[in-house]
Amino acid sequence: MEIVSLIGCKDYEYDQLKTCIKETFENLGGIEKYISRGETVLLKVNLLMKKRPEEATTTHPKFVKALADELIDYGAKVIIGDSPGGPFNKKILQGIYSICGYEEIAKDLPVVLNYNTNSVEISNEEGLILKRIKGIEVLKEVDKVISVSKLKTHGMMLFTGAVKNMFGIVAGLEKAEYHVRMPNNVDFSNALVDICLAAKPILSFMDGIVGMEGAGPSGGDPREVGVVIGSTSPYHLDVAATTIIGIEPTKVPTIERCVERELCKGNFEDIELKGENIEKFIVNDFVVPEIRSLDLLEGKIPKFLRDILNGLLQPKPVFMHDQCIGCRDCANNCPPRVIEMVNKKPMVNLDECIRCFCCQELCPVQAVHIYRPLLMKWLAKL
Ligand code: SF4
Ligand code: SF4
Repeated sequence: MEIVSLIGCKDYEYDQLKTCIKETFENLGGIEKYISRGETVLLKVNLLMKKRPEEATTTHPKFVKALADELIDYGAKVIIGDSPGGPFNKKILQGIYSICGYEEIAKDLPVVLNYNTNSVEISNEEGLILKRIKGIEVLKEVDKVISVSKLKTHGMMLFTGAVKNMFGIVAGLEKAEYHVRMPNNVDFSNALVDICLAAKPILSFMDGIVGMEGAGPSGGDPREVGVVIGSTSPYHLDVAATTIIGIEPTKVPTIERCVERELCKGNFEDIELKGENIEKFIVNDFVVPEIRSLDLLEGKIPKFLRDILNGLLQPKPVFMHDQCIGCRDCANNCPPRVIEMVNKKPMVNLDECIRCFCCQELCPVQAVHIYRPLLMKWLAKL
């Protein structure tokens, strides 16, 4: 059995948040069960891109501060880090820490914001398809890792939680390579599980106070959910979090892979819930994106038909040139490099597009939309 703790927290008022984080640690058995005094802990947060805390794209800085505060009080050292979308260098990290509100944490507490942008090879014996990972070097500098994710939907993966959060231990543009090498959902979600296994988070926390619904992980809308989630297992945390936002857990590709690999059951049979009743937090009308790949119809229609439909009815990125500010972020971060800037506007070669939707994820002004044929919408509901 793995523990999942749920504590109600209506906003980011700091004293209240600190109490909720303290209670969460207690529900998980106490910090001392997992971390020794003097050890260094990496808080692996979600810093996808430069977004203000109230946009609900990144883990809220007050949430991270309260967690760091508790660990420091206990006697641990804290490093905060992520390898966001796009290139991984000091200048970009500086901009992200500043806009996302993380510089304030470092002003108030003796924490280190990671600026080490080197990468190291990490062997991954438990990996199914990734036996070696090019990870961020800071992983080798710390004794323990805690996943500190944000409760959000995700266009390609339906949901981004504690497991997908660990994709950010992969160094910089290497993440794009993984998209190219594993364009289908099953392989890619297995890779995400492999990466989580390699990172070995000792505990997982999720900022579910204000989540993101709709076109996550960056273009959706903030939605109050009011919960701090903590768990001894990232796999089990994701089962509880998806249940709260009304997604059947096994519809999420990463959770489906975890069930296949016997990392969790995909339901509450192997979860010991602590804290408040989960029913209190369930949001029945949380807006969830439509599934964007017919790969998710695997097993529901014959393969030959799925292949034909995949070719004809694939969703595709559409660039809204009237909204586009010509920043080139989509072109610079497109894994197979199929976006060309013509007169400062992006043009895509759809024949070579792998439908990873990184362009939509990283566009700072939501100028990339996903067009999905009506027939596909209907099929995806089957
Ligand atoms: S990322 Fe968005 S704003 Fe920037 S060039 Fe691409 S479409 Fe335009
Ligand atoms: S155009 Fe967009 S969806 Fe297509 S491969 Fe590039 S980043 Fe991915």
